[in-house]
Amino acid sequence: MKPIQMVDLQQQYAGIKDQVDAAIREVLESAAFINGKQVTEFSRNLSSYLDIPHVIPCANGTDALQIALMGLDLDPGDEVITPSFTFIATTEVVALLRLKPVFADVDPKTFCLDPASVEKKITKKTRAIVPVHLYGQSSPMKEIMDIANSHSLHVIEDNAQAIGGDYHFPGGKTWKTGTIGTLGTTSFFPSKNLGAYGDGGALFTRDGNLAERLRMIANHGQVKRYYHELVGCNSRLDSIQAAVLNVKLPLLDRYIGRRIKVADEYDRAFANHPGITTPYRAPYSKHVFHQYTLLLEGADRNKLQEHLASKKVPSMIYYPVPAHRQQMFAAFHSDREKLETTEWLTERVISLPMHTEMDQEQIRFIADSVLEFLN
Ligand SMILES: *Cc1c(COP(=O)(O)O)cnc(C)c1O
Repeated sequence: MKPIQMVDLQQQYAGIKDQVDAAIREVLESAAFINGKQVTEFSRNLSSYLDIPHVIPCANGTDALQIALMGLDLDPGDEVITPSFTFIATTEVVALLRLKPVFADVDPKTFCLDPASVEKKITKKTRAIVPVHLYGQSSPMKEIMDIANSHSLHVIEDNAQAIGGDYHFPGGKTWKTGTIGTLGTTSFFPSKNLGAYGDGGALFTRDGNLAERLRMIANHGQVKRYYHELVGCNSRLDSIQAAVLNVKLPLLDRYIGRRIKVADEYDRAFANHPGITTPYRAPYSKHVFHQYTLLLEGADRNKLQEHLASKKVPSMIYYPVPAHRQQMFAAFHSDREKLETTEWLTERVISLPMHTEMDQEQIRFIADSVLEFLN
């Protein structure tokens, strides 16, 4: 059996080596490392894939979130509601900009923002909601947009884990995740569903004026060279990364298809085990399985991880400490603040290897290794 990894980027590269090598060589030969034609091409390609008019490339997914918040013209102390059950970047940029992160709880089935909890956290100072489409599953966007619209709030979709996913409005249109809110952001970190070979990120929006502002902010607030209208930052997608992404974007749907097949097989293997809840697939969306995450009941998770490691099966806990319990936010919450579902999930989730190159034998071996420990 091939060695098992959480994500197997070497094997994925082997399948696209010729195209990737040629695309990178073209950048090397042109020496247009910054703002090369690959970057414009990729922005256009992503815009057509997502069916959204404006794509602003940037240096990584954390910058994308920061630029998004900077683009909304908020004042220090304004409140931004985010889940606590997420990667730290989502909430960190809020505090970095001297805004106030306000943590809402998540739904125990989808692991995404619970609209009822969001509603309870709204105050006069609330300006924006940042739903995270965690593990590849869309947040309940209709409910979130309804809340946002009735309180005139902005919505930034953190789509770093769900690029390529769909959201179906009840009885209506299907949208790509990340294209429903005021704006969406994503990351091209190598292990993401659409991963570059280094860092990268992007923002997308339907609002032309906002797009112009975001473009300026990502480029030192420049209107034209050396004329700076806004305080911005320097955040670019490298031409080499864009070249890699131009090769990989046309393969994204096939890659997602493979992830879903792996999830289907895991689901079958774990069906009927009373101590395991397999990932919920909300009928309103297409789950793109950035992670395959089980919920364990009554199991010693540390011992399970040790058992898996002894069989050379990696596993991960995303995320062992929720944002509202992180030291960096000590100033932003009282110790009495409880996010019941978030804390409950934090103790029970475990993510298994999930990538585009997994074969039957590996999936079987991983599932058997989990089951032999729990049975
Ligand atoms: C990966 C990730 C980010 C940050 O992306 P980087 O490119 O690593 O900066 C932000 N939010 C979520 C939910 C992520 O998974």
